[in-house]
Parts: sequence; C-alpha cells; structure tokens
Amino acid sequence: MQRAHTVHMPRGFYVGRFQPLHEGHEAVLREIAAERNELVVGIGSADKSHSVDNPFTAGERHVMITRTLEDVDVDAYVVPLVDVDRNALWTSHVRSLCPPFDTVYSNNPLVTRLFEESDTEVNELPMFNRQEYEGTGIRERMLSGDPWEHLVPDPVVEAIEEVDGVGRLRDVAADDEAED
Ligand code: NAD
Repeated sequence: MQRAHTVHMPRGFYVGRFQPLHEGHEAVLREIAAERNELVVGIGSADKSHSVDNPFTAGERHVMITRTLEDVDVDAYVVPLVDVDRNALWTSHVRSLCPPFDTVYSNNPLVTRLFEESDTEVNELPMFNRQEYEGTGIRERMLSGDPWEHLVPDPVVEAIEEVDGVGRLRDVAADDEAED
C-alpha cells in the first residue's frame, strides 16, 4: 500500500510579548492571515508576569490572542515561549517548541537578526499608528487612569477586566515605588 504524502503547508511565525495585545498587533495578524492559512503565534517572555513591563501571564495573553483570532480567518497555534539567557540559542529554542514554520513576520530588530542569522526568511511588516498602538503607552494610560480601551480589541478589554488587570498593574507599580 502506498503511503499518502503529507501536504506541505507553509506556516508563518509571529512573536510578541502582547503586554497587552493591541490594535497594532491585530492589524499585523490580519495582514499575515491574508497571506497564510496557518500561523504560529509565539507568546514571548512567557515566564514574565506581575511587573510594570509585563503585567499579564502567558495564560492571560493566550486568552487575548485566541479570542482576538476568533474573528480572523487563519488557523493559529499559540505557543508560550520562555526567555533564554543566550540570544544565540533563542531561534533553536523557539523551533524546539513550535510547529514547523518557514517564514517569520517581525518588526523587532533583534528577532529579525537572530532568525536571519539562522537562515530563516523574515518579512517586515508596516507599523500601524505606532504613536498610540504601543504597549508601554497603553500601560501608562492604565496607570494614570486615561482611556486605553479604544487601543485594544474588545476581547482584550474583557480579558483584562476578568483578571482586574488594571488593579494589578497599579499594585505592582506601587510596589516598585515602595522599593525605590
Ligand atoms: P511586542 O508585543 O512589543 O511586539 C510584537 C511585534 O509586533 C513586533 O514585531 C513589533 O515590532 C510589532 N508591533 C508592535 N506594535 C506595532 C504596531 N503598532 N504596528 C505594527 N507592528 C507592531 O513584542 P516584542 O518585545 O517585539 O516580542 C519579542 C519577544 O521575543 C520578547 O518576548 C523577547 O523577550 C523575545 N526574545 C527572546 C530572546 C531570548 O530569550 N534570548 C531573544 C529575542 C527575542
């Protein structure tokens, strides 16, 4: 009996910290979905949470990504990726945990360099309204009480409210100040 050949399905790879996932990330996901049927989404710094720069856990970011992607026409595999202390080994670490992919989508210069050095094609994407769609600025708005909800997809607002994310961010920021 002849064995059926597996159909090669080239996948894209997109990694981010998603602290939180914002409208710029969503626009990128839609751009990639227009080119690809399948996508691997890496949750970078999966080991980090409960800090001012990284308030949300990998699981909470998983919820943000999967709920946002419900509305996007792509089959996505979401993989948490803890950081490793040697950049030279990071792409091997990523490949050891993810389904196979052939192209990386990134605007992050370190991510781009590391994958290009390991002979992986990297596609650069346009930046969408970077003045506002930017994690640091969104977290600052949460801390100062300014509106932030319009800068992230609706499912992300829900995911953050479910875990009292703004309250958590304020508590960890207050803890940082107490230590200074
Ligand atoms: P991020 O959430 O800030 O951004 C994710 C991607 O979206 C980036 O390519 C970014 O340029 C892009 N983006 C952000 N705002 C955008 C906008 N408005 N419009 C269009 N694109 C936009 O995440 P990040 O910090 O870039 O994630 C990289 C992850 O890889 C981090 O978790 C980092 O720790 C990890 N990493 C780890 C190692 C290691 O462990 N040694 C090495 C390299 C990278």
